[in-house]
Amino acid sequence: MSNGVYNPFVNAQAQFDRVAEIIGLDQATRDLLRQPLREYHFLIPVKMDDGTTKVFRGFRVQHNDARGPAKGGIRFHPEETADTVRALAMWMTWKCAVVDIPLGGGKGGIICDPRNLSEKEQERLCRGWVRQIVRNLGPYLDVPAPDVMTSSKHMLWMLDEFETITGGHYPGFITGKPVGMGGSLGRTEATGYGVIYTVREALKDRGINIKDTTASIQGFGNVAQHAAKLFSQLGGTVIAVSCWDNVDKRAYTFRKKDGVDVDELRSITDVYGGITKDKARDLGYEVLDAMAWLEQDVDILIPAALENQITAENVNKISSQVKLIAEGANGPTTPDADEAIKHRRIFMIPDFLANAGGVTCSYFEQVQSNANYYWEKEEVLSKLDTKMTAAFHAVNDLAKRSSLYMRDAAYVIAINRVAQAVKMRGWV
Ligand code: NAD
Repeated sequence: MSNGVYNPFVNAQAQFDRVAEIIGLDQATRDLLRQPLREYHFLIPVKMDDGTTKVFRGFRVQHNDARGPAKGGIRFHPEETADTVRALAMWMTWKCAVVDIPLGGGKGGIICDPRNLSEKEQERLCRGWVRQIVRNLGPYLDVPAPDVMTSSKHMLWMLDEFETITGGHYPGFITGKPVGMGGSLGRTEATGYGVIYTVREALKDRGINIKDTTASIQGFGNVAQHAAKLFSQLGGTVIAVSCWDNVDKRAYTFRKKDGVDVDELRSITDVYGGITKDKARDLGYEVLDAMAWLEQDVDILIPAALENQITAENVNKISSQVKLIAEGANGPTTPDADEAIKHRRIFMIPDFLANAGGVTCSYFEQVQSNANYYWEKEEVLSKLDTKMTAAFHAVNDLAKRSSLYMRDAAYVIAINRVAQAVKMRGWV
């Protein structure tokens, strides 16, 4: 669809155009930043296990690399589209800029369904992807990472192919590698912890003690589990999480009004972040409707599962007690719901700020890999806290100073930084 809601690139451009107007960006810079600087579309022939050859379609989009090498994941998805990859590459540019790490924005993908491919076929696909794009990737050019349906295993095959072709060791070529093979300690926790660092600062700024707050979370995967863990460690109470039940093939909200025990809940969670309702009931959880997480009387909502979850249809169900929404997921709020949230003056920590802990830690991984020297976990997490805290306050201060909605303030900072970089380079 191209009505601006369902085509993510149309959405990303509309968000950009709005902020370009707010900051009075000149036409040439607008033209340069509202679309990708470079994009590569290519075919990847793969020998299948049965002896046939199948041809897959691959992409790499470098939205902008004025501030440093492009950075972004590679997705495996049967419904991958060039526009999705373009939008995600553009959002990576803003995400890296808002946390002020010296990287640009990129994204890649292959149209495929890895669930229907053997391990060997996936390996050949990963190696084929690298072979097609090798001249345009590298530690100082463009650095891929895992994304939807790709993992550290895929990253290592890609690294091996790159190193085989180029004849050397370049662990900074890719991030999301296994710890011990160039991966960074703390990467698993980074996104969820980053969300909570920003929540902690927002509460502090409002004079609210985190120990007096409650939260409801959508999702119980990588981001949500670590967000729930740190929030609880800081004294907050998570009362509900919503996630997928793989037996019933639907999502539920699991609620314990006196507080979720994160470790206990993790003990019944599968590797995909799913929980079956019977196991949750056995542990004393109320089993509620999938979207009940949104309707809880809590102080904080953390959507950390999927995009387009808070919509014009359900935004009015958010309790009047909710003071803050921290978007752990990418794009969990539709533009019309966002307007309603803005109108209700609920404090919003937008996705590309709240969940930037992941890319920040990927940047730390790249720094460690390039230096071939690896840090202790405490060092990684403390540097992450410093970065996220600084980024939150830069956006919050601008929002206050200029009476801007937090999402707009985050965009203003990010777009200004990238605009300044292209101007300083003399591109416009
Ligand atoms: P994940 O696959 O580990 O977890 C996803 C969770 O969502 C699971 O608990 C799953 O059960 C749940 N879920 C699926 N369908 C649901 C539904 N209909 N209702 C409720 N819950 C449902 O994924 P993740 O890595 O935690 O990522 C979550 C979001 O955060 C995504 O939007 C992702 O793009 C974004 N994100 C992730 C990272 C990262 O480092 N992992 C970084 C930035 C942004």
